[in-house]
Amino acid sequence: MKKILITGGAGFIGSALVRHLIKNTDHQVLVIDKLTYAGNLESLKEITDSPRFSFLKLDICDSSINNVFDDFYPDAIMHLAAESHVDRSIDGPSEFIKTNILGTFNLLEASLRFWQKNGKSSNFRFQHISTDEVFGSLSESGLFSETTAYDPSSPYSASKASSDHLVRAWHRTYGLPVIMTNCSNNYGPYHYPEKLIPLIINNALKRKPLPVYGDGLQVRDWLYVDDHVLALCAVLEKGRVGETYNVGGDSEKTNIQVVRMICEILDEIHPANDKKSYKDQITFVNDRPGHDRRYAIDCSKLKNDLGWKQEETFETGIKKTIEWFLSNNEWVEAVLKNKYSGERLGVQK
Ligand code: NAD
Repeated sequence: MKKILITGGAGFIGSALVRHLIKNTDHQVLVIDKLTYAGNLESLKEITDSPRFSFLKLDICDSSINNVFDDFYPDAIMHLAAESHVDRSIDGPSEFIKTNILGTFNLLEASLRFWQKNGKSSNFRFQHISTDEVFGSLSESGLFSETTAYDPSSPYSASKASSDHLVRAWHRTYGLPVIMTNCSNNYGPYHYPEKLIPLIINNALKRKPLPVYGDGLQVRDWLYVDDHVLALCAVLEKGRVGETYNVGGDSEKTNIQVVRMICEILDEIHPANDKKSYKDQITFVNDRPGHDRRYAIDCSKLKNDLGWKQEETFETGIKKTIEWFLSNNEWVEAVLKNKYSGERLGVQK
């Protein structure tokens, strides 16, 4: 049994991780989360009654984080709290700089103080969860590996790149036992409906336009969120201190392929009343400024060294995701209420 401090545990990936840890392990979990528009306790409803779960509303930039370490006495911290939406980072980068860079710095300092005070236990872990977007854009071939040079394009990816550098530096300089992951695009249940896949599902069902940026030929690698969670747990349990592991879905798709697939599945399992295909709602809009063309990830290190592999293909995962959204409209309405109504974000200033 471990005591795990999870930042951002009310967000999309964090809540999937917390649900997994409470349902499938005997670990004790404390979530700290600021509950921004993207953090929702509704995503944790399935497990909030567990005596092994506790929650504290807190900004990771807050200096009182030191007390959290002293009171909870974690064996590990899994750091997922972040501002995560590229389009919002174009409109307002400052929150991204504060949370993703200064917040990570604050957590590193608190972790270091706690770790040093408690005899520098070699079992302690600071696990940092990051993105493949730090590597910038690929041409038609090639894959990101753990040694690919950083080349971020957006305020979001630049802020995550900064946080990655800080985490590595706290290991190299102070010896803090850190471990890092860089992951491709996640999708699945409880995904905030501003991101491509849940936005398209939600807009399709509301018979609204399905916006596709530019020519729709940008390529992303898609990973089902529960597969990401299993990867994070494998890295926490078995990963080597100081190392980075890439996590990917081996599922490269263009954005327009993804949108068309969602429409085809909806046409089959939830046909529109007027019998028209949801594809008729597809609308091409101006591209995102600085939009990276292609991401693709080589996750063979994680597979070979730690024995992880994806359980879902994109075809099985996207079907599960659509079915989940069809059955959980109350969650969608609750998390959108007074926060986001589907408007276009991230149009250049
Ligand atoms: P999310 O936006 O759904 O959730 C982020 C959570 O962090 C929310 O609960 C929010 O309330 C919380 N938060 C934000 N600022 C905070 C602050 N200052 N203090 C405390 N809590 C704060 O994000 P997500 O998609 O779940 O991503 C989680 C992590 O994984 C992020 O670090 C992100 O960069 C990384 N990541 C995400 C993806 C993806 O496809 N979603 C891919 C690779 C990496």
